[in-house]
Amino acid sequence: MATASYVIGIGSNRRHGRHGAPAGVVAAAIAAMAGLGLDIAAVSRTRQTPALGPSSRDFANAAVLAGSALSPPALLALLKRIERDFGRRRGQRWGARVLDLDILAWSEGGWSDRTLTIPHAALAQRAFAIGPAAEIAPAWRHPRLHATFRQLDMRLAAPRAVDRSGRGS
Ligand code: ATP
Ligand code: CA
Ligand code: CA
Repeated sequence: MATASYVIGIGSNRRHGRHGAPAGVVAAAIAAMAGLGLDIAAVSRTRQTPALGPSSRDFANAAVLAGSALSPPALLALLKRIERDFGRRRGQRWGARVLDLDILAWSEGGWSDRTLTIPHAALAQRAFAIGPAAEIAPAWRHPRLHATFRQLDMRLAAPRAVDRSGRGS
């Protein structure tokens, strides 16, 4: 049976006692995913993204292409377990967090239930998410927006050029 692939987004903006600065947390999270059985086929560059709030620290963001036989809900459970293992506490949504693992996309298309939406609802609006995704899966097509990740990344990078062509939102 062919194994499905996922694009998983990784973010951190807090130091970890053992793994150090956010970029080290990202690298350790990739190793943890591999250790739990995900078949890491590609890794994007890790980029530094300025945080939105004045007092927040910069984020390190990356994405991996991972083969897995897990269903989307089972993968989400595994990613949440890794977040907990890295010391993430509840109630850190949007704020400083040591590790955030989001399922950005799935080779089998879309998924939507009470707790999980794939592709991730904000994928096309966030440069720190679509940028790494476009690096490792440029030809993947967004099932709702009908554009490839490369096209979506270019739209974010040059929004005015896209507006002139009438394709912007
Ligand atoms: P955002 O989702 O805007 O990036 P966040 O990552 O900070 O925010 P979390 O607190 O990490 O949000 O997650 C909140 C909930 O989002 C999770 O418990 C999960 O059930 C749900 N969720 C929905 N779609 C996804 C997805 N594609 N990947 C990960 N979590 C998702
Ligand atoms: Ca997130
Ligand atoms: Ca998340």
